[in-house]
Amino acid sequence: MIDYDTFLSRASLGMRESAIRKMGTVLAQARDIISFAPGYPDPAVFAWEEFRAINAELLSGRDGSVLQYGPTRGHKPLLEALIEILATRSITTSIETLLVTTGSQQGLDLVARVLLDPGDVALVELPAYTGAITAFRNMQAELVGVKQQDDGIDLEDLAAVLHRLRSAGRRVRFLYVVPNFQNPTGLLMAPAKRRQLLEWAARENMLIVEDDPYREIFFNQSAGDGVIRPIKADDTDGRVIYLSSFSKTLAPGFRVAWITAPPAIAARLEIAKQAADLCTGGLDQRIVFETWKRGILQRQIPVLRAHYRQKHDVMAEALRSELAGAVTWPDPQGGFFLWLTLPNQMDADLLLHRCVQHGVIYVAGAAFYVDGAGAETVRLSFSAPTHDRIREGVKRLATAIREEMAERRETAAGRVFP
Ligand code: PMP
Repeated sequence: MIDYDTFLSRASLGMRESAIRKMGTVLAQARDIISFAPGYPDPAVFAWEEFRAINAELLSGRDGSVLQYGPTRGHKPLLEALIEILATRSITTSIETLLVTTGSQQGLDLVARVLLDPGDVALVELPAYTGAITAFRNMQAELVGVKQQDDGIDLEDLAAVLHRLRSAGRRVRFLYVVPNFQNPTGLLMAPAKRRQLLEWAARENMLIVEDDPYREIFFNQSAGDGVIRPIKADDTDGRVIYLSSFSKTLAPGFRVAWITAPPAIAARLEIAKQAADLCTGGLDQRIVFETWKRGILQRQIPVLRAHYRQKHDVMAEALRSELAGAVTWPDPQGGFFLWLTLPNQMDADLLLHRCVQHGVIYVAGAAFYVDGAGAETVRLSFSAPTHDRIREGVKRLATAIREEMAERRETAAGRVFP
């Protein structure tokens, strides 16, 4: 018998399976499970017809480059479109700052490869997106958490954490944030905090990695873009590496996303990407570009906002009527998630076993914490299931929570009066 572990790198031995992907396995094994686990966009709003037409044209065979290798930085017309898309977000860029990535997930992996050495520290929010946590940990970096408040990152805690780490001689490389409808909390970072973060980065000589996949999924159509203005928009200093994606607006199956970074970093990211995949799929990039050129992407956005707002409302309403007062959550203004706190420090991992029996799953919140906290938190995604499935899933969740509460009362009573 070969012990393959002896062949594995230290980095690979340290890698952990994604908590969200693991829930996918549970799902595959069981029938009639309603999944609130992965933050999947709803295929019902994909622009199927338009994709089909564009695809047929691209695959006519007239242009051989469609299925050829392409430049690592990305398909040139798409890069030019990205400059215009970023301009609508008040970000001024040029080709040499841009790189198309195979999903933002690859972007996070490349950022980690380019910025982190083993033992370095990356700062993340408490809680933070697990995919980023995994990408940074894979480089054997240590992740240190910074508290969040209702309006985003706690700047006092940030200052204190950085001070403590630097006093201990640690090398802190960057802060990773998701200011718009954060995964997993749905929180929106206040505009003033965004500006203060830039001042902090300049003062402390730090970089900020800003991940912005959810900004278009803003429920309030009339609030204007001021509150979702990226940190990058005011980055006159070159402190911000900005990532965004077409996964939530077009479809994640295309795996098309992008990074804009100061040119010196973008050049490094390009070299790292050459080793990862040479280039992002050329057909995918062209389909995405065509949807933008034909105005399909732009037409999708108000549709998505209304669609996901309704789903949010259905889930929030179901939770209020099934579990009035028992669970709490910050009211999100956009995105795909509700972030629940369970009653009486109930353990979300234990509750999950009961939920599987009742036919509903979620991601237990501890997966999003780098400091071991969050046992009593739950991330529910409302983006993919239908309204009926959302209502039914919340019913099942409520039954499981009530059973768990009753059992705990019995156990507690049993302990007091043996
Ligand atoms: N960042 C965040 C905050 C996300 O929620 C996700 C998707 N769940 C990603 C990055 C990755 O998105 P993609 O690779 O599909 O672009």
